[in-house]
Amino acid sequence: MKSNGSSEVPEGAKGVLECLRSKRQFVMCAHEKPDGDVLGSGFALGIALKSLGKGVVYFLDDDVPNNLRFLPESDLPQRTFQGVADDAIFVFMDMSDQWRAGKALEWVPRERIINIDHHLGNQRFGRWNYVMESEAATGSIVLGLVVALGVSVTPDIATCLLTALISDTGCFMYSNADPHTVRLGASLMEAGADKDRINEQLYQTRTFSGQKVLGRALDTAMLTDDGICYSVVTRAMLAEFGAAYEDLEDVVGALRAVDKCEVSALLKEAPDGAFRVSMRSRGRVNVMAAAALLGGGGHFRAAGATVAGPLDAALAALLAAIRVEMAAEARAGQ
Ligand code: AMP
Ligand code: MN
Ligand code: MN
Repeated sequence: MKSNGSSEVPEGAKGVLECLRSKRQFVMCAHEKPDGDVLGSGFALGIALKSLGKGVVYFLDDDVPNNLRFLPESDLPQRTFQGVADDAIFVFMDMSDQWRAGKALEWVPRERIINIDHHLGNQRFGRWNYVMESEAATGSIVLGLVVALGVSVTPDIATCLLTALISDTGCFMYSNADPHTVRLGASLMEAGADKDRINEQLYQTRTFSGQKVLGRALDTAMLTDDGICYSVVTRAMLAEFGAAYEDLEDVVGALRAVDKCEVSALLKEAPDGAFRVSMRSRGRVNVMAAAALLGGGGHFRAAGATVAGPLDAALAALLAAIRVEMAAEARAGQ
């Protein structure tokens, strides 16, 4: 199966492919709070490399979220570097800078890093960098690599990669799902990906406590006159319902669905008292740029950052950043 209509290998891929072919062991690395794109991409490439006789270690300083435990290989990630060879290559995927991988991977030197990503403003932090900002998911890029490596796309690989695509496109609903992305999805279904199971897990299965927190977050949401719909989930709220951080996936999307909302934002209090912020745009305002003002990043319509507490200060900084970009959009539209 080809990843797209042509058998040409895109420019940035050459070095990465050469490295994948010539080195013998790889450590798959995910960003913090891993999602379907980063885990699906990592497991798919891991399976492909193992089929070529390579050593593969999945390093994850987090738990695999419950709704992604159906993924092949999802019981294999380890929190230590046990078994990692001195010359192992670290494959960082789905992140624009190395620090998104968390403290445990800060020590990894550039010379040992492959960076495969689709975020705007990727820092090219690896020795080998393959970044395609036009792709909806890192999984699309990985599909091209798997095919170029000459590995056949097995049902397991296809399920991992379709999970990546479905996660980052909201089941092909968001604007990043263009005809190319949908075609890749179709080819993955033809290769045996279990689309129904993926959607059931990602979009139709929620914990009871997670639904309760969603209800509270919607109940306490605010809508500003200029179209910012935001809410806050504190550690106390999570504790009250016995909910987990991963239960909050849908909240920011539900806030954006409000008809008068241009930008939605959710502040999630982290264990250290800082706030992880998620932002979504209806399409006019660049929330990636707003996130960048706060030291984060992402995509035009979906972005995030971590902002220091206390809550009042974090909220003020967040609203100010969004309004900078709203003003920029208003100027551009004049
Ligand atoms: P989320 O709101 O967590 O679903 O993230 C939306 C998008 O923003 C994803 O592409 C993330 O990779 C990106 N993102 C979230 N948090 C950060 C951060 N602290 N720094 C950079 N990018 C982020
Ligand atoms: Mn991701
Ligand atoms: Mn992604």
